[in-house]
Amino acid sequence: MVATNGKIFAVGKEKDVDAEGATTVIDAHGTTLAPGLIDSHVHPVAGDWTPRQNQLGWIDSYLHGGVTTMVSAGEVHTPGRPKDVVGLKAMAIFAQRTFSAFRPGGVRIHAGAPVLEHGMVEEDFKELAAAGVSMLGEVGLGSVKDGATARQMVGWARKYGIQSTIHTGGPSIPGSSLIDKDIVLAADADVIGHINGGHTALPDDQIVSLCESSTRALEVVHNGNEKAALLTLRTAKELKQLSRVILGTDSPAGSGVQPLGILRMISMLSSLGDVPAEVAVCFATGNTARIRKLDCGIVEVGRAATFVMMDRAQHSSGKTVLDSMQRGDLPGIGMVIIDAAVSTHRSRNTPPATKVPEVIAS
Ligand SMILES: [Zn+2]
Repeated sequence: MVATNGKIFAVGKEKDVDAEGATTVIDAHGTTLAPGLIDSHVHPVAGDWTPRQNQLGWIDSYLHGGVTTMVSAGEVHTPGRPKDVVGLKAMAIFAQRTFSAFRPGGVRIHAGAPVLEHGMVEEDFKELAAAGVSMLGEVGLGSVKDGATARQMVGWARKYGIQSTIHTGGPSIPGSSLIDKDIVLAADADVIGHINGGHTALPDDQIVSLCESSTRALEVVHNGNEKAALLTLRTAKELKQLSRVILGTDSPAGSGVQPLGILRMISMLSSLGDVPAEVAVCFATGNTARIRKLDCGIVEVGRAATFVMMDRAQHSSGKTVLDSMQRGDLPGIGMVIIDAAVSTHRSRNTPPATKVPEVIAS
């Protein structure tokens, strides 16, 4: 793998690629390289702090779980969050600006995701888009909770290139509400956010119906119902639509922060849902990158040189890293590289990898 200016320049056998003049050389020592993991559903607020459980440094902790890119589903935990239209637009633009300029450990955070409130008009979406806002926070977390209004606003957002995600299932915290299958289908947001609930899932028949009746992305989250996650996976597999499955943690949340949340989802879905581990890794990399329109997530010339290097954890019964994940173990991370720069060496959070890469020249 050769990278230059933060992008993948060449992929192939050593003899076939031009690595002359490389300023940094890394020997993978037989470990496995995957695209950096993407968390499709986070709730950042400001800096590397979350008021939800009052923790500092949570983003840096996720980096040690292989997460190199995060997508905000709304900065809804902001203390005193403004709910008037001018205030919510200002907050979204603030979050978009601050998080695009602030990258703890190199992690890229796509934030600035306003939640829909009654009173918003088409002009607001045009203004938000012109100001650099590219996605909505979870539809249903603001005052707009009916299918018709949600559909109209999601349509305005889409018209100006703003992507949408809808909250699915029971209320997440006191004050939020149920969004059932009919509202999800009526709103027709681009991503069926936490289809396995966050935490409370819809009944099985509604989940199956969402998979069958909609063509939108199926987002499965760590802080949801695991049985419903497996039902979603099974249904998507039967429909031959695994390309719709993307992963998030839906954190920080009431259940805390989960630095290893995406890795845990991959191992859980692979071990209990009977999908090969490499396919489960694609849910959190290529699938999410394609659906969220990101330049990372796939090992391909021209894409961001953003990787996680893993090996089977020490003493895992699995014979290879993929075999270990398919048995339900977490992999050990030996190095994370973001935009062609080494962000971390051996992870402080995963079980120790058997083999780790090494920087041999820099
Ligand atoms: Zn939600």
